[in-house]
Amino acid sequence: MAQSFHPPQRTLMGPGPSDVSPRVLEAMARPTLGHLDPVFVEFMDHLKELLQFAFQTENPLTMPISGPGSVGMETCFVNLVEPGDTVVICVNGVFGGRMKEIVVRSGATAVVVEDDWGRAVDPAKVEQALKDHPEAKILAFVHAETSTGARSDAEALVGLAHAHDCLAIVDAVTSLGGIPVLVDEWTFDAVYSGSQKCLSCTPGLSPVSFSPLAVETIKRRKTPVQSWFMDTNLVMGYWGTNQKRSYHHTAPINALYGLHEALVILEEEGLEAAWARHQKHHLALRAGFEAMGLGLAVPEAERLPQLNVVHVPEGVDEARVRGRLLEDYQLEVGAGLGALAGKVWRIGLMGHSCNLRNVLTCVGAFETVLASEGAAVETGVAEAAALTAFAG
Ligand SMILES: *Cc1c(COP(=O)(O)O)cnc(C)c1O
Repeated sequence: MAQSFHPPQRTLMGPGPSDVSPRVLEAMARPTLGHLDPVFVEFMDHLKELLQFAFQTENPLTMPISGPGSVGMETCFVNLVEPGDTVVICVNGVFGGRMKEIVVRSGATAVVVEDDWGRAVDPAKVEQALKDHPEAKILAFVHAETSTGARSDAEALVGLAHAHDCLAIVDAVTSLGGIPVLVDEWTFDAVYSGSQKCLSCTPGLSPVSFSPLAVETIKRRKTPVQSWFMDTNLVMGYWGTNQKRSYHHTAPINALYGLHEALVILEEEGLEAAWARHQKHHLALRAGFEAMGLGLAVPEAERLPQLNVVHVPEGVDEARVRGRLLEDYQLEVGAGLGALAGKVWRIGLMGHSCNLRNVLTCVGAFETVLASEGAAVETGVAEAAALTAFAG
């Protein structure tokens, strides 16, 4: 006979998912309602308001897409991009590369602005590309590159887009809830995030928001949106405010309860306090690793607090270390990707995972495991250094 599945209780400090608050899991266990139940319809309005708060926007077209961050990404592109358009894409890691792939599959031309992995997008290069391509309609970039730990200057890049009559699509999957994402103040046109990074909900939902200018652009399309499921004109029949809601797809009801609770938790803490918490724990984690003699990749001014990239010491098998952390400490950290594979670990401090206990567990565990693997690291210093930095 098949048996129930009981996963182990891990500590999730990789690139996502992050630890989910028991409050969120409890909310998801509440009774399932019908997706057109009047009580659920009212709940949807509250959820939209909380998303507007998280994104700092008044955009009416703000909603959770039923799908992971990748579906949010695709939703933004397929609605705004038409065949024959030119889109400038900044690629400084894995996720920029995916944007390019979606643009090409949409029948548009992608102009790629490349930066080294582990560095922010260079605004000077973007400006040059926009000058060289006056036909460009959209600029797209990743605010927080989870694959490399680099943070780009979203406000500056969106400013360049508008100065060249382009719309801006921003990937805020890892930034939302961890560092400022000011959608209205920074005038993003389309932005998407994910439920499982700094919002610390379960994976599978993607909050998105479109500016009034983006909505106008979608309305003026000459061709229908190539995806039926992601066509915002149709999704709005269900998520819109001004009309009676009608069936589009069956919303993931209980998952949405979870997202709602995660956003209630964020509102209780306050956005500024959440950003400050991520920064403070990042500094403590960094101090722990530096005391061991391990440096962080990514220049300091471009570092994300919620995704820390640590160099693997000479001669150490990084996958073996991750395996031991998981087995002995129930601790998950991420591997390097692409050019960084085997060379770095990616340590997330996202949302509910971002707390002092996790920082201390992580640096202490690395110290012990690395020493036993014969790495040349200082021992007996990491936790004290992290605590000292935390005390400020
Ligand atoms: C995780 C992530 C995505 C994709 O989200 P999924 O939920 O895995 O589909 C996109 N962009 C960035 C920057 C991410 O970190």
